[in-house]
Amino acid sequence: MDYKEHIAIVEDWPKEGVQFKDITPLMDNGPAFKAAVDEIVEYAKDKEIDIVVGPEARGFIVGCPVSYALEIGFAPVRKEGKLPRETIKVDYGLEYGKDVLTIHKDAIKPGQRVLIIDDLLATGGTIEATIDLVEQLGGEVAGCAFLIELTYLDGRSKLDGHDVLTLMQY
Ligand code: IMP
Repeated sequence: MDYKEHIAIVEDWPKEGVQFKDITPLMDNGPAFKAAVDEIVEYAKDKEIDIVVGPEARGFIVGCPVSYALEIGFAPVRKEGKLPRETIKVDYGLEYGKDVLTIHKDAIKPGQRVLIIDDLLATGGTIEATIDLVEQLGGEVAGCAFLIELTYLDGRSKLDGHDVLTLMQY
């Protein structure tokens, strides 16, 4: 499947100089979206995953159908102030300034094998922060899956030692 024909490239969005990869045409296309989800499910099948974790918001879109297909749970990672119960948090660096990601304290049990899913790997800051949250709770990161990898930003260097799947590379 040539997934790239379903990715819209938007120049200078959200700011000048950024070439945004828009996955909504892929989501719009039933067979393409299903093929992408199925490929991640296939990757995860022999990893004995207990739970899928995805950062907001596009990590939910890709992660939830995978957890449904694997018949396991999904735990959301969200910006500070969005989750209603007791959370743990991590500060992470954005291109400009800092942000905070949180997860419910009881979302993962110690020893659980976790598959982290997001739409896109850029600098790797978001995935690094998400791994930190999973490991703070005693989870074991068994794999990380993304639709898109921006190889020129070298997010992979932050994923050393982890099993990584990306369906498209730019
Ligand atoms: P990173 O933390 O620099 O790796 O950025 C990855 C996060 O930013 C992911 O959660 C993405 O959803 C979002 N992101 C960054 N660039 C893009 C893009 O071009 N298209 C879609 N999402 C992006």
